Amino acid sequence: MAGQRVNLDGEAVKPLTICMIGAGGFIGSHLCERLMHETDHTVMAIDVYGDKISHLLQPGHEWSDRIEFHKINIKHDPRLEGLVKMSDLVINLAAICTPADYNTRPLDTIYSNFVDALPVVQYCRENEKRLIHFSTCEVYGKTIGSFLAKDSPLRNDPAFYMLKEDETPCIFGSIDKQRWSYACAKQLIERLIYGEGAENGLEFTIVRPFNWIGPRMDFIPGVDGPQDSVPRVLACFSNNLMKGEPLKLVDGGESQRTFIYIKDAIDAVQRMIENPARANGQIFNVGNPNNEVTVRELAELMTDVYCKVSGNARPEVTTVDVTSKEFYGVGYDDSDKRIPDMTIIKKQLEWEPKTSLYDLMEHTLTYQHTTYAEAVKKAMSKATAT
Ligand code: NAD
Ligand code: UDP
Repeated sequence: MAGQRVNLDGEAVKPLTICMIGAGGFIGSHLCERLMHETDHTVMAIDVYGDKISHLLQPGHEWSDRIEFHKINIKHDPRLEGLVKMSDLVINLAAICTPADYNTRPLDTIYSNFVDALPVVQYCRENEKRLIHFSTCEVYGKTIGSFLAKDSPLRNDPAFYMLKEDETPCIFGSIDKQRWSYACAKQLIERLIYGEGAENGLEFTIVRPFNWIGPRMDFIPGVDGPQDSVPRVLACFSNNLMKGEPLKLVDGGESQRTFIYIKDAIDAVQRMIENPARANGQIFNVGNPNNEVTVRELAELMTDVYCKVSGNARPEVTTVDVTSKEFYGVGYDDSDKRIPDMTIIKKQLEWEPKTSLYDLMEHTLTYQHTTYAEAVKKAMSKATAT
């Protein structure tokens, strides 16, 4: 369906067989969609859940012979090695990656992000398969600037906060701040993959996503996920808005994040897939440095946009403060600020993000409202009745 597509160097893009692990998650579902709609690549989609890609798996689509779902838990399934062997490229997205888990389930977090990824790296090395591994911007941890006095003018100097793949150190909190279990596990698997590249010639690309958001991210507690689980901020705030309750700001909502629309980020991943000569051996920040907000500003923006898309009146009280201990429990800690340096990805892949924070929020909250608002209301009235 894609015709004579060419890569950034004008070479024909050959159809690949891609073994995508964690294909049923948020990022995986968008990547599968893109590969089915716009390319001739074949996907062997591995996950323990397939709901987010079920629309792609229905028979009768023009791409139906290019995607197959394998319900596999990579922790203990011998089929994984065979699927890696059959592929041209492995993409590993599988992970526990919700902050509420890092301090409450540190062992599961470390096993998922480090131990379970080891066989994937090993099979790629042994079978000479190219690997695109999903890491995280959290490997940077806290900024150097966060250790300066609050009023220090140096805090405004990019040298103290801009996160650069080949320069910035990784700064985590003490071991009792179990928040960093995830970042530390991701950092170690990055180092291992990098070492495999240096010593054994593994062809790899490491992706560090900076708060990718959009439709199908996480779950709404009590609707399509456990009532007592805490998803990432987009789903937490969407849930608050649909319930008509104030948005909870953890520790004052002072942390800063840059958000990128999932479809912009998927453009970058597609370029990595189709331009191996430019992507191999690289670590890429993938984010949108222009979309920076504090969490408090994000809450106000989401309230405005949700009122617009739902037609609801703006509530008088929009936010409420909670401590991180109340919200996440003991051992939570936070990244203060995350601005990706874009030099390497711009140079290697000629890629830049496009979508503004307002626009991405409008698309995403329209989806959240259409998909969930009725179900949230039903769940609330059921809870009141019982
Ligand atoms: P997600 O939770 O939606 O997707 C992860 C998928 O992996 C899930 O569908 C899960 O079922 C699957 N999985 C986990 N363990 C598995 C196992 N043992 N066997 C088979 N499948 C398993 O998360 P996402 O947002 O799509 O993130 C994908 C990757 O990107 C992760 O590695 C994450 O650490 C990284 N990342 C994402 C973001 C972001 O902004 N979304 C930010 C930083 C890093
Ligand atoms: N956060 C918040 N209220 C919520 C959920 C999250 O204030 O209901 C904050 C959280 O403490 C962090 C930021 O929002 O500072 C982003 O959290 P997220 O879970 O999306 O992941 P992170 O960017 O920290 O990996």
